[in-house]
Amino acid sequence: MKRVLALRESHPKETRAALSPESAKKLAGLGLSVTVEQGLGDRAGYSDEDYRQAGAAVAERSKALPEAEIILRVRKPEDSEIETLPTGVLHLSFLDPFNESALIQKLAAKKVNAVSVEMIPRSTIAQKMDALSSQANLAGYAAVVLASDRMQKILPMMMTPAGTISPSRFFIIGVGVAGLQAIATAKRLGARVEAFDTRPVVEEQVRSLGAKFVKVDLGDTGQTDQGYAKELTPEQMEKQRLEMAKACARADVVITTAKLFGRKAPVILNEAVLEQMKPGSIVVDLAVESGGNVAGSKVGEDVITANGVKIIGPENLEGYYPKDATQMLGANFANFIEHFWDAEQQAFVYRTEDEILSGSLITRDGEIVHEKFKA
Ligand code: NAD
Repeated sequence: MKRVLALRESHPKETRAALSPESAKKLAGLGLSVTVEQGLGDRAGYSDEDYRQAGAAVAERSKALPEAEIILRVRKPEDSEIETLPTGVLHLSFLDPFNESALIQKLAAKKVNAVSVEMIPRSTIAQKMDALSSQANLAGYAAVVLASDRMQKILPMMMTPAGTISPSRFFIIGVGVAGLQAIATAKRLGARVEAFDTRPVVEEQVRSLGAKFVKVDLGDTGQTDQGYAKELTPEQMEKQRLEMAKACARADVVITTAKLFGRKAPVILNEAVLEQMKPGSIVVDLAVESGGNVAGSKVGEDVITANGVKIIGPENLEGYYPKDATQMLGANFANFIEHFWDAEQQAFVYRTEDEILSGSLITRDGEIVHEKFKA
């Protein structure tokens, strides 16, 4: 099993590709035969020629697809496409499996062996394959740059003969990978940064970046064994909102990144909190595509509240810098394949005893094999 094909994304807003020339070269170096669909990197700044020079073949989808043994792509396949996928193919992509049970059933029925990259465990050994993290890092950075571009103020303090400009205040809610990168970016640009997360373990990380951790005593919150936040009770949510409101009222920019893995994001900024914010201040809702942390936020739109707060609901923030996003995603995919690559047999080996594969392989040989989705 060695013929790998990277498919071009069909989603109109997707700018990223699943493979960069650099990763194509790495896979070719392992002995795989690499093909990319024509125009794969068009929107990410990589030409067909770049891929050719990296040792890949460039082909039309209809020609390459029937031969493919491993398929790489960023987004889940369209329903209508599943019939065209070769039986027995290993298919790697984001799949959103918690919300896509019909799609999973169809992939199983077509005997597609589907890996969902967001299910790759957050372990040390899997870090180099962790596509959620690589993309969240870029999204956190992009959120700050996006906000700074729309602000009425600059970020750093500036002392000039014409007077002193005070630094902007940022408040970051949710300090996972994206939140940490947002804090680091805003700090680098000179803003004064506060942050909050329900997981108390992140307080130290926030402080080490030179930001202030906003303390809210919510009682028992904790995290799952994968480090994901647990859902708060309604009483805890209310208490959090009250404390958040004060920090939001102080802020020029609020960036929310609070997600709950596999579930709808919690609404943290409701209308009452937004009403207390300063006119002209900005909210960037990074969770907008999974339900939204901010009342009234809309995917791909700016919404302005009655008191003049601008709520930005960025679509595909991970793809704002597609060249780098593709470089990182491609490396994540190539590292995954390399991990299961048997150089002697020149084949991808399904080592299902490895938690990286058992944690992320959703369907195999016509069955749904992942414990979480069998039911
Ligand atoms: P995520 O995108 O699922 O969530 C973002 C943040 O929002 C999390 O920190 C979460 O605690 C927080 N959050 C959820 N509900 C909230 C609420 N009501 N109020 C405030 N904050 C709230 O997180 P992620 O970036 O995917 O990271 C998830 C976990 O995985 C973290 O513990 C992270 O450290 C861990 N991780 C580990 C590795 C590794 O070891 N290889 C790599 C990446 C991430």
